[in-house]
Amino acid sequence: MSLKPTIGIETHIELNTNTKMFCRCAVVDTDEPNISLCPTCIGLPGALPVPNKKAIEFITLLALSTGCEITSKGMFHRKNYFYPDLPKNYQISQFDLPVGLNGELEIVIGEDRDFIQIERVHMEEDTGKSSHSGSGRIESATSTALDFNRSGVPLVEIVTKPVISSSKQAVAYIEELRQLSIDLNISEGRLEKGNLRFDANISVAPEDSTELGTKVEIKNMNSLRSLERAIDYEIQRQTKALEDGVEIVQETRHWDENKEVTSTMRSKEGSADYRYFSDPDLPNMFLSDEFIKEVETLMPLLPKAQREELMTTGLSLSQSNILSKSDDWIKKLYVEVFDQTKDSIASYNWITGELQGQMRKANIEVLPEWFNDDYLSEIIELIKSNKISFTSAKIILTEILTTETTPSKVAEQKNLFQENDSEKISEMINQIIKENQDIVDRIKSGEDKLVGFLVGQLMKQSNGSVNPGMAKELLLKELEG
Ligand SMILES: [Zn+2]
Repeated sequence: MSLKPTIGIETHIELNTNTKMFCRCAVVDTDEPNISLCPTCIGLPGALPVPNKKAIEFITLLALSTGCEITSKGMFHRKNYFYPDLPKNYQISQFDLPVGLNGELEIVIGEDRDFIQIERVHMEEDTGKSSHSGSGRIESATSTALDFNRSGVPLVEIVTKPVISSSKQAVAYIEELRQLSIDLNISEGRLEKGNLRFDANISVAPEDSTELGTKVEIKNMNSLRSLERAIDYEIQRQTKALEDGVEIVQETRHWDENKEVTSTMRSKEGSADYRYFSDPDLPNMFLSDEFIKEVETLMPLLPKAQREELMTTGLSLSQSNILSKSDDWIKKLYVEVFDQTKDSIASYNWITGELQGQMRKANIEVLPEWFNDDYLSEIIELIKSNKISFTSAKIILTEILTTETTPSKVAEQKNLFQENDSEKISEMINQIIKENQDIVDRIKSGEDKLVGFLVGQLMKQSNGSVNPGMAKELLLKELEG
């Protein structure tokens, strides 16, 4: 029996607003617990919520950027459940009228594009944080500490349709969504801080089946590595169960990072279990055309459009994708160096390869202030015009990353300019031939690979100042003649 997996992903993105979703408490980034809370965000009786306009603006922006239809009349619902980090016993969320419906997001894997259909984009508020003693899970903990700093922080939840077919696609989707949220300036997109957290719904069914298999939800992952491994593990587990004739149970599972397995958390609740009802403390929310137009003016150049633009310079789709997901200074430097050199591949290779490699090695996080596009452009031009070798160019780069000087000055000081004068090179060749007559004889009797030895001697004697391509060409001519 041939089986196919189907995956849907729900992502919560923490919005980088100054204040929480329904109160004026500051959104804080600290380990000190319970310093930013008030009656509203810890659910004291009688406290009334007031929606954060900036957060609604951010959610609308994400919905528009993924091509969603905007629901102009949205409503706040209460999603009821009990957990220690939710003192209100309900989360304010959106149920049947989310801000955005039916969008899509382009993803890139290698040189291929794909489109992931988005079902909905809606507002949520975060819960507090529980720290369970011992293993980190509530079942085996002897005590739990609660921190409500995060309670009520605005979130946007973005839900895909069940259209993802592999862990690779899932990872590419999260990478794209993360970059989108950074470019929209609605989130810092830092996975290690939990700015994006994702749940994956996974089912496996026979290849020719029109119905999906029983779905299992894996909760609360925040790294691409966990996402990839958890999906792969779950596909394997379900495939084996089906092949062995074991029934899959609809449930929520937990990904154990250390053991690299998923395990049962609870049998999956349906939406009816949450007893959604509209929040009596909040009026209906209408998104006017005027508001939507205002939000549209905030739209930056999206990652997809950035890729299209980069490809017009001559980069491939995967190169453009890598740049579109790089820090702003890298994107900017590429455009500037390309503008000067008109050589997309050299500009791309120097920036994403040697420059970033040397910076990592030397622990340089920010380019020195004197370092600008002129420097790299000059290096690329010096190589292209055969004035310096590639090896010398790397030495020059190391120097200008730490000292305020120019590539030409470094080349001069360190004697790195190549000898391109064919007469001078010929003189040196004649000298080498004289000194290595035995080698020359062996080359003439068929030992071709010894040509490399003579070129090596030439490089040595000239302290590497000879253009090796030119030297080899002239040497061969000399040997033939
Ligand atoms: Zn508050």
